[in-house]
Amino acid sequence: MTVYRKKEGSDVWHWCTNCPEYPTGENVIERHSRPDYGTLCSLCEVKDRAGDCKKDSLFSVRK
Ligand SMILES: [Zn+2]
Repeated sequence: MTVYRKKEGSDVWHWCTNCPEYPTGENVIERHSRPDYGTLCSLCEVKDRAGDCKKDSLFSVRK
């Protein structure tokens, strides 16, 4: 299952933990299904297509 994350106040969802813009720290909103609003990160999309997307797991420790 893919975890989508975005920074509060931002519109862009990330789902590759190795994305340079992957949101960390506080004020991060997390979803476990494909978001129905906002935009999907184009960098994550490129990584996903290239098979270079490191996905977070549901069982990782929540910040
Ligand atoms: Zn991204």
